[in-house]
Amino acid sequence: MESVILVRYEEIFLKGLNKHIFENKLIKNIKKRLADIAIFDVRKSQSRIYIESSDSDFDMQEAIIRLQTIFGIASVSPVTKIDSSFDSIKETSVRMIEDLILRKGYKTFKVEAKRADKSFPLNSPKICAELGAHILKSVPQLKVDVHNPDFIFFVEIREKTYLYSEIIPAAKGLPTGTGGLGTLLLSGGIDSPVAGWMIAKRGVQLEAVYFHSHPYTSDRAKDKVIKLARILSEWCIGIKLHVVPFTDIQLAINEKCPAEYLTIIMRRLMMRIAEKIALQNNSLGLITGEAIGQVASQTMESMLVTNDAVDLPVYRPLVGMDKNEVINLARKIGTYDTSILPYEDCCTIFVAKHPVTKPTLCKTIEYESVLNQDELIDEAIANTEVIEL
Ligand code: ATP
Ligand code: MG
Repeated sequence: MESVILVRYEEIFLKGLNKHIFENKLIKNIKKRLADIAIFDVRKSQSRIYIESSDSDFDMQEAIIRLQTIFGIASVSPVTKIDSSFDSIKETSVRMIEDLILRKGYKTFKVEAKRADKSFPLNSPKICAELGAHILKSVPQLKVDVHNPDFIFFVEIREKTYLYSEIIPAAKGLPTGTGGLGTLLLSGGIDSPVAGWMIAKRGVQLEAVYFHSHPYTSDRAKDKVIKLARILSEWCIGIKLHVVPFTDIQLAINEKCPAEYLTIIMRRLMMRIAEKIALQNNSLGLITGEAIGQVASQTMESMLVTNDAVDLPVYRPLVGMDKNEVINLARKIGTYDTSILPYEDCCTIFVAKHPVTKPTLCKTIEYESVLNQDELIDEAIANTEVIEL
């Protein structure tokens, strides 16, 4: 028997003449993401995508779990594909429905039919009526409810007949790679993985930059960030992670700049390095997990000073969110449990008791001018480790 999964998309419909670009990218991403499952075929037909495999190793369950994390897919349905004879439609439908009732305990249903193949002898209303009657007779515990059924049994008659009942929601958004490249400043915290996910959802391919202050931040802290990047890479069809050695910069700032300005100056250097790495990779913007007012370095005043350090646009998708909203999203995308592992971040090792909450640009520039910034930045970038995930 053939395993078939029906893949639906939504926003791609709005893309007019560019629609095929988005569809083709989505198909490419599906092929990549499912590549190691088994041999399968992906084809587009009437604004839907069908994944079909006659390989007995094809793991339908695993394929569906992965498809739910591919941006651009609105929903998926496991489908039974059979020859278009009404006898086999009736027989297979009853078998599928009996199995469904066992699993879900449904009590009411309706049939919805679509006849794209006009050579099929019954029209859609007739299919609904006759198949519905046959199901009622064969599965006596079921009742019809056309307004609010426990499940809808879908019959689509195309070049073959497709039967399904489950519609499983997926990631939505736009296919990864249709929106250019963005560079995520990825820490081990809760916020930045969520920020990256939100931008990636809009079709942006991610690269990540992590600032590591060895030995003040441990190998375990680095492993945690690699793990977070790996979780994100499952949503984003791969991520390149740049691990930047940040110790010398932090020590220099700590030694030469006023304590209350340490964090804001450090944030500006992070942004400069991230921008340089971004430009080397043709990335179009920086992404951070900042939200207004969350900490001293995320007040409007601080963000003005941070933004001033770079020319690339800085995307802050969490800017208006509360921490609890971010936590809920982190749970949903699977990063939360890793983010809360208690390893230190470079932002938390050299912090002033009273970091400035309203820094001014003038003072910041004055205080950081004692640093040999170009040299520090070039040195850090030259020693950056790149990990492909
Ligand atoms: P997060 O939970 O994402 O760490 P946060 O609430 O702890 O955020 P900060 O520590 O002020 O906030 O960091 C603000 C943003 O700066 C982070 O969301 C992230 O984008 C970036 N950032 C902070 N530390 C690092 C780091 N070590 N490497 C890369 N980016 C970082
Ligand atoms: Mg942090």
